[in-house]
Amino acid sequence: MRRAVFLDRDGVLNANVFYRDTGAWEAPRRVNDFRLLPGVLSALARLQTAGFALVLVSNQPNEALGKSTGAELREIHDAMATCFEGHGIRFLDYCYCPHHPKAVVAELGGTCRCRKPSPYWLFRTASRYGIDLWASWMIGDRATDTACGAAAGVRSIRIGSVAEWDQHAVWQVEDLTSAVQLVLQPGDSICPDWTLAQRLRV
Ligand SMILES: [Mg+2]
Ligand SMILES: [Zn+2]
Repeated sequence: MRRAVFLDRDGVLNANVFYRDTGAWEAPRRVNDFRLLPGVLSALARLQTAGFALVLVSNQPNEALGKSTGAELREIHDAMATCFEGHGIRFLDYCYCPHHPKAVVAELGGTCRCRKPSPYWLFRTASRYGIDLWASWMIGDRATDTACGAAAGVRSIRIGSVAEWDQHAVWQVEDLTSAVQLVLQPGDSICPDWTLAQRLRV
């Protein structure tokens, strides 16, 4: 059985982008808007070296919402995956939910099984690749990520500048680098050290 770290994408691996038409920070719509966050490549490399399988789990509804074409989303994915490969980082799988309840593209609408907080992709990859969920982690920047992790029985770490209390997160820290430090610290896991998390927030 392998251990995995399930990773959200936007706001964890790459920066969200401010779009004027919605006035909101969102997932990149085009490849030119895609930027990896600082420290991400070395954080992923550390997890990989420690023997964790890397699995991306991302809600990616921009085609469903008419903000990107399917080709634009594939271009973003390909650029990211090529960058990882070029740095020796191999993901076990990339799992995307392309659906959205308010889709303007009919075949991507309605209620699906795979949109986080559904734990669908975690269970699916666990059975497909033999992943021990109890020894695995989810890292995300939204409540839907940590709820997804909790529903699958993995420990969840919430990253980003989080003002609210997240009941599903065992730790809340600033960025992926800090989250990986927690995953890799010896004797981690069973009893989360909230004091340490507070210290790492600065
Ligand atoms: Mg996110
Ligand atoms: Zn879906």
